[in-house]
Amino acid sequence: MSTPARRHFICSLDQLLDCGGACALIDGEQVALVRVGEEVFALENRDPFSEANVISRGIVGDLAGQLVVTSPVYKQHFNLRSGRCLEDESVSLRTWPCGVLDGRVWVESLQQQTSRGVPGRRRLVVVGNGMAAMRTVEQLLEQAPDAYEITIFGAEPRGNYNRILLSPLLAGDTDWAQIMLHPLEWYRERGITLHTGDPVVSIDRRRKRVISAAGVIAGYDRLLLATGSDPVRLKVRGHDLPGVFTFRNIDDVDGMLKQASSARNAVVIGGGLLGLEAASGLAKQGLAVTVVHIRSRVMDRQLDEEAAEYLRHSMEARGIQFRLAARTEALDGEGVVQRVLLEDGSELPADMVVVAAGISPRTELARQCGLHCDRGILVDDTLQTYDPAIYAVGECVQHRGLTYGLVAPLWEQARVCAIHLAERGVTRFRGSRPSSQLKVSGIEVFSAGDPTRVTGAESIRYADRAAGIYKRLWVKDNRLQAAVLYGDTRSAAWYAELIEHQRDISAQRDELLWAEPPATGSAA
Ligand SMILES: Cc1cc2nc3c(=O)[nH]c(=O)nc-3n(C[C@H](O)[C@H](O)[C@H](O)COP(=O)(O)OP(=O)(O)OC[C@H]3O[C@@H](n4cnc5c(N)ncnc54)[C@H](O)[C@@H]3O)c2cc1C
Repeated sequence: MSTPARRHFICSLDQLLDCGGACALIDGEQVALVRVGEEVFALENRDPFSEANVISRGIVGDLAGQLVVTSPVYKQHFNLRSGRCLEDESVSLRTWPCGVLDGRVWVESLQQQTSRGVPGRRRLVVVGNGMAAMRTVEQLLEQAPDAYEITIFGAEPRGNYNRILLSPLLAGDTDWAQIMLHPLEWYRERGITLHTGDPVVSIDRRRKRVISAAGVIAGYDRLLLATGSDPVRLKVRGHDLPGVFTFRNIDDVDGMLKQASSARNAVVIGGGLLGLEAASGLAKQGLAVTVVHIRSRVMDRQLDEEAAEYLRHSMEARGIQFRLAARTEALDGEGVVQRVLLEDGSELPADMVVVAAGISPRTELARQCGLHCDRGILVDDTLQTYDPAIYAVGECVQHRGLTYGLVAPLWEQARVCAIHLAERGVTRFRGSRPSSQLKVSGIEVFSAGDPTRVTGAESIRYADRAAGIYKRLWVKDNRLQAAVLYGDTRSAAWYAELIEHQRDISAQRDELLWAEPPATGSAA
């Protein structure tokens, strides 16, 4: 597969000294290349204060947690990733997309790539390089491999990885390489242009083009927005102290693991699925963990009271403590987080805090360019936004009033969206009733439907505390509405399927709690 025309290979990585720089001429401009470990950064070589071409000879280091290069003339510091000057926020060096491929350093031209394009192929630009975006691209390539020339922008500085596996990554049960879904070669082999670490900052709908933080301009015939969600941040004093983390990406996990190596006490704020997985991961790293949850039971959105009690007991047996129905008043410490203050006046020691208090769809780009948004970017059943040239998938989307935070509905969105991008049919996304399963090894918990909101349903229940098994199903009009399982989740996939497709269960009703799922071959 050919190399994208706008990418310049400069030298081998070995030719750059670690924490050293070199200068390259790209499209007639001097570009400073700076290496830090296995990473390479490309910035304007001209120092705006002295007007000398000297940045490639600057001193490289870490300043207040930011990687910087210092101008050798007047000593201003420039952030290597954004180019921003630390002393004067109004000044920035331009940055270029760059990276290392097969041991060779490449830099991408900033020249506009709008007008050209392969004859006969339309241009698809994808904003977001996460799970929903890449599932859509994969499906599109299967449906219509030659229909589009594809350009992807990702804010994160890497290929696409399995975000779900961040929990086992934190627990030390897997590693970075194992969770990678699409490494950089995957894109190269398919002729896809990928801009990593370079978020799109604006969309010009009139001229049908996007502009990235590094200044790349890409024209589109179709645009796909898949910007995911932001973790909700606490609006309390001390929320931004060092040692306070969110749990959304690989950098968060890296930061947590570093902090955990010298910490003793961790507080996790949020007792939902993500909070419990974070708590379990940190406990596995040897920390004393307390979960603070605003509601009176854990996983209150997915579990009924009894299942939540079973779960809490199991986690307590692993040494995790809980403060339920508790509100955080402030995070406190001298220069770094040291304690969590609760509204009831109590105080929890904390060398680190993980905030897992929910997510909110990332819609700012869509709003800026005038796309209709509510909580998420509004889409119809074909995943099209109010602009017919722009589609959206994933957690950033609101469809029929709902937003989703689990991958199963996003896979379905991706499938439908790809079909429409490929112009291969009339399939529709009609919404989904997702199910969830806690990823804490040794604890089996499953929930499907929305057990906390079912009305007018009959419930079938079995509980055996000694054996640690609890099952409850909600049935209405011979259709399964919701299910909660603790301790024995063998029928989970079957129940999820019955709920999703609203199948008639009258034939299995008497044995529904005990019938083997059909996949085992002995269904009732
Ligand atoms: C720790 C953890 C555990 C989870 N466990 C489960 C589970 O067990 N089961 C389950 O179903 N789901 C789970 N999820 C949820 C699941 O990972 C998400 O539903 C899924 O990743 C959402 O996909 P997405 O593509 O919408 O968003 P993401 O995967 O978040 O991708 C969005 C990407 O877009 C990028 N982006 C944003 N703005 C821009 C921009 N302007 N320009 C360029 N790029 C941009 C972001 O940086 C991000 O990389 C978990 C999530 C986490 C964090």
